[in-house]
Amino acid sequence: MQWLKQVFSGDSASTQPMVLDWETVRNQEVSWGGGRQVLVGERPLHGRPLTIDGFCENIPVSTLTQALSWYGGIHPLERSVRPQLAALLYDITHNPRAMAAYFPITKILDEAGLADFHERVTGLIASENFALRVWRVNHTLITDTAPPSLAYIVAGHIIEVLFYRLDIQARFFSQPRAFDIYLTQQAYEDDGGVAGGCYDPRTHSIKLVAKRLYEGFYDKTPGVSTMLHELGHMLDALNPTTGDMEMLRGLLPGLSDTDGALYTPEARQLFLAGRQLEIERYQRVISARASDKDIPIGHPYVFSNNYEFIAGHLEMFFRNPHYFAAMNPNLYDGFAALLRQDPRQYWAEDFAYYIRENRTVYLFNRHTITPLGLNALS
Ligand SMILES: [Zn+2]
Repeated sequence: MQWLKQVFSGDSASTQPMVLDWETVRNQEVSWGGGRQVLVGERPLHGRPLTIDGFCENIPVSTLTQALSWYGGIHPLERSVRPQLAALLYDITHNPRAMAAYFPITKILDEAGLADFHERVTGLIASENFALRVWRVNHTLITDTAPPSLAYIVAGHIIEVLFYRLDIQARFFSQPRAFDIYLTQQAYEDDGGVAGGCYDPRTHSIKLVAKRLYEGFYDKTPGVSTMLHELGHMLDALNPTTGDMEMLRGLLPGLSDTDGALYTPEARQLFLAGRQLEIERYQRVISARASDKDIPIGHPYVFSNNYEFIAGHLEMFFRNPHYFAAMNPNLYDGFAALLRQDPRQYWAEDFAYYIRENRTVYLFNRHTITPLGLNALS
């Protein structure tokens, strides 16, 4: 932290810093109030520099203001990305501790593991096959001036999922992989995007409105993660033997006996058994009311085709692992065997929203359930 003191000392000698507690404020949004006032959550800084005990000292409001401007203009219509203080402080200090809370796996890593995680993320960002492009309206590329936290969140999710599968990561990035991130909804629509994000099988790229990278992190427990879901689709499209992107298979790399060295036989066996149970539950719940212990884990959407099944369950594996494992041990163990990790170790409590939403459909809104669209896997 010594260099931070050097950089920021003297800038605000006449103003007492606003001292805030890291755990309390790291998830809070930083935004513009009236009169170029900077707010941390609801709290105006009143022009005072920011000090977070044990993390950073005397960061001038002008520095925060400048960092905030990288996310878009001051006018509410120009702004759609709502960064947490943690992201903004990463942009300013490049201290990897700021980003740890975005990736629950970091909770079980020791100092060496944390350093490794950070090196893997920054190494991936710097590698030539990590093709991140950040767009403004009218197809204007602004990758070079985009806030650093944005690339960190994209790459960090990939490292989190593949932290214990370096072999899959190496194969996945044996060729360029494209991630197109749009600062505003309009920029996304200018590029033909619909809704808020997708994996585009024509361009083989993930396309996301930037605010979706940040939306799940305003609470202590990470929530909705479109990036995880779309990453599931992108991994599904990889042909693990050639490294090319091809047709979606409804599988992650390593789940098929055609996947060469990546093939993980015990994971496939468990995955297929667990998947079959979910299919049977889904068919039962279509024809009759089921008990609350015999309903599918996922929303009917993940039963619309093989591809949504794999992407949706990858996301739930990393968001509600306790419920997932209790409802379907085989399916859970299949993901755990493939990715060589057990997210229950670093999730004290599940992200309850997904569980609640999905259960509500089967227990109370059965008329909205759609026909099963899954078919046999290769
Ligand atoms: Zn999907």
